[in-house]
Amino acid sequence: MIVQDTTEILDRILERVKSVDPVNTRKWFDELTPVSFDGGLLQVGCQEPSWAQYLQDCCLTTFTHAAQSITGHLVGVQFVVTGRQEAMPDASAARPTVRLHPDYTFDSFVVGPCNRLAHASCIAVSQNPGMIYNPLFLYGNVGLGKTHLLHAVCHDARKQAPDVNIRFQSCEEFVNGFISAIEQGSLTEFQNQYRSVDILIIDDIQFLREREQSQEEFFHTFNALYNNRKQIVLTADCAPQDLPALEDRLISRFKWGLVARLDAPSYETRIAIIKKKANLRGLALPDNVAELIAEQIKTNIRELEGALTVIYATARAAGQPINLELAKQALGVQEAAAVRSIAMTDIVRAVSEQFDVRITDLQSKKRSQSIALPRQICMYLARSLTRHSLEEIGGHLGGRDHSTVVHSCSKIETMYKADADFRDRIDKLTGWIMQNNK
Ligand code: ADP
Ligand code: MG
Repeated sequence: MIVQDTTEILDRILERVKSVDPVNTRKWFDELTPVSFDGGLLQVGCQEPSWAQYLQDCCLTTFTHAAQSITGHLVGVQFVVTGRQEAMPDASAARPTVRLHPDYTFDSFVVGPCNRLAHASCIAVSQNPGMIYNPLFLYGNVGLGKTHLLHAVCHDARKQAPDVNIRFQSCEEFVNGFISAIEQGSLTEFQNQYRSVDILIIDDIQFLREREQSQEEFFHTFNALYNNRKQIVLTADCAPQDLPALEDRLISRFKWGLVARLDAPSYETRIAIIKKKANLRGLALPDNVAELIAEQIKTNIRELEGALTVIYATARAAGQPINLELAKQALGVQEAAAVRSIAMTDIVRAVSEQFDVRITDLQSKKRSQSIALPRQICMYLARSLTRHSLEEIGGHLGGRDHSTVVHSCSKIETMYKADADFRDRIDKLTGWIMQNNK
């Protein structure tokens, strides 16, 4: 197969992917390059490691199906990093690669009065780690861009200094790593990993509450890094002083540097964000549709994106371009789903039947994997299909607290994005619940 053909194959694959999966398509797909097509394997070159990661997580199935139908052969697709040398993860180094989302950069972050301070402080930190605001503590409700800014800090800090040693983890990963280090007797190694970094970023630090030993460990990690003028960036769903059941000495340290709050975006900022998201996907969005979305959804930016997705999916299914009429219809469907008063019991019953677990087990404290996953799916569905609070959802499913529900939802969301079969299963389940509650 000569290169010309491979180029043509990739072009046609991209065309196909854009039409079947516009929501996951990104403008930078145009910069992908054919590397080789040999022995049934098509290698696609990516300029950034985060592109390869994203394609692997979100688009592998779509690319593979497209490649197979275009070539008529059983082709596998592999994403390889071909880009700038300094952007490549250093394979020889023992340090773990930070998984960065290519969408979450400073360029794609819309700045408004609601997040100006958080944004400016993140830029300052990525340019001069450890020098200006240390620690930097960001807080705000879910879906307001905290995690996005953390990824942007990593992207930028890496650009400034490709060798910078960054550790970026959720607080839960820190806690789990700590627990397994104790179990395996590798605490010193664990401590060294954390204390040898230039930048430590921990997302959702509220997860430390009521975990006394992990708090103690984090306290020492914090001190070690702080004393060596290494940068610490933390996020939480509330201000340091409101973090429940956290030791005072930690809370006071969290306030040593800069504390920046993220608020819900104004109407104008919401419009700018929607346009930015559409632009990132290379999609045309009429102004009046952006306005409609911004009017309908006010508090959570993730929901703005969800609305955009629903509108594109509806347009594709109808084979029509996006216009106000179609958008109203698409969002109307979403609204109806919310008000159609789906009850927790409907969700639990459906999951119990589909996953063959007992309702009483879903509502128990049992932790075995065969029950935990369906229970997490219940939480995820309750979040999207009902108006119940996190506490109510957790209460209904064995008395879990709100952070467990948040964590479960984000875990299922990640699986939903990464795994086409899983997505299919959840979509069918959702359809089934809605169908049965008309
Ligand atoms: P949080 O961590 O605060 O819960 P995320 O960072 O996960 O929120 O943001 C949720 C979604 O909203 C992400 O897709 C993110 O890109 C988007 N988002 C949030 N704020 C902005 C912004 N100011 N500009 C562009 N996108 C944003
Ligand atoms: Mg987050």
